[in-house]
Amino acid sequence: MALRQRDEETWLGSSQADIRDLFKLKYKVCKPSPSDFVDVRCGCGSDSFHLYVDDEPPSAVRVCRSCSAEHAICESVVDFEVNEMGKAECECCCEEFEITVGIAINAAKNQSAIFVGCRCKECGIVGLWGKWKVRHSSNRNLLSRA
Ligand SMILES: [Zn+2]
Ligand SMILES: [Zn+2]
Repeated sequence: MALRQRDEETWLGSSQADIRDLFKLKYKVCKPSPSDFVDVRCGCGSDSFHLYVDDEPPSAVRVCRSCSAEHAICESVVDFEVNEMGKAECECCCEEFEITVGIAINAAKNQSAIFVGCRCKECGIVGLWGKWKVRHSSNRNLLSRA
């Protein structure tokens, strides 16, 4: 693993595992920090996706680069049209990402937070593209639907 800092705001990773390191680095000071993670794979086995994000509701949809399957990450949205969402694009103009999803569970507040991290397939920049809160009752089973 080799997460390295390029400048104040930019981190570069050499593998998908570095997305987890970014979570640990950036969110270890917030409580709770993400405790469980999933390296997302499409049903077809691909680890390469286009990502679409929205604020209303906060959500993220991944589209497989290999088989074109569309999937709402952690059931964040039910009815969606990817063309109406914002397409994630790296500063290098690449739109192809590895995706790792983390969950932080706050039992006291009956709340969890979902984190969607990406690593650019082209230049290796790792970053957080989505973060939203869910009721704790939905809990970590959500990760199985990342
Ligand atoms: Zn696929
Ligand atoms: Zn890039």
